[in-house]
Amino acid sequence: MSLINIALDGPAGSGKSTVGKIVSLRLSYDYLDTGMIYRGIAWWLSAMGWEESIDITGLISNLEIISWIEPGFCRIIINGIEPPSDKLYSREISDLSSKISAYGEIRDIVNKVIKILAGEKGTVVEGRDIGSVVLPQAEVKIFLTASNEELARRRYMDFQKMGETVSYETVLAEIVGRNIRDSNREIAPLKMASDAIHIDSTNLKIQEVVDKILTIVNDRLSRCFTGLPG
Ligand code: C5P
Repeated sequence: MSLINIALDGPAGSGKSTVGKIVSLRLSYDYLDTGMIYRGIAWWLSAMGWEESIDITGLISNLEIISWIEPGFCRIIINGIEPPSDKLYSREISDLSSKISAYGEIRDIVNKVIKILAGEKGTVVEGRDIGSVVLPQAEVKIFLTASNEELARRRYMDFQKMGETVSYETVLAEIVGRNIRDSNREIAPLKMASDAIHIDSTNLKIQEVVDKILTIVNDRLSRCFTGLPG
């Protein structure tokens, strides 16, 4: 069975994680959430007391990242410790991960991990720059978006489930701010690869997005088998 890589990029809140996990389970592909690696590094730097005025190079020179992936699931261990998921997905770490992801040295470290994990193919890789920079040869590239209000509504529901008290307006401001920062950084900004397929999920149910992606993947797989171009 021929295996391919699926790059799933898009802004925060676009539903990449939910959709990516389901697609990976349906295909029995591994699921790699690259945002989790940036979050893990942000969590570790925060635990080390890092601030923007402190040089980051020394702190990250001995960073040991272990990540493993399977269908619908991925885990990370940073310097021997697994970050607690309530910390990893806190608003503080969301913000810090976006800030530290602008550093080229950090992106180099993360990209090495991604390339090793996705090297065997058969992986759904979720992020911001997967189709455009990290895995430009990925056979399927999806760019998932939604309106800012819908992005914020979804993230607000996540926080409610986590029991975090925060207003919808605050979530909207934070998510828009993070997506603007991610889109405007100099290195590997959030951007749709020229050969990616855009899916606007604003008015779609999760299952509808999953079905669209599976149709695209099956079409690509049948082209791989028959030798048809594209
Ligand atoms: O996807 P998630 O929201 O968990 O990612 C957290 C942060 O990590 C993003 O806001 C972004 O700054 C960064 N990131 C990135 N490149 C990726 C994945 C995530 O810069 N491939």
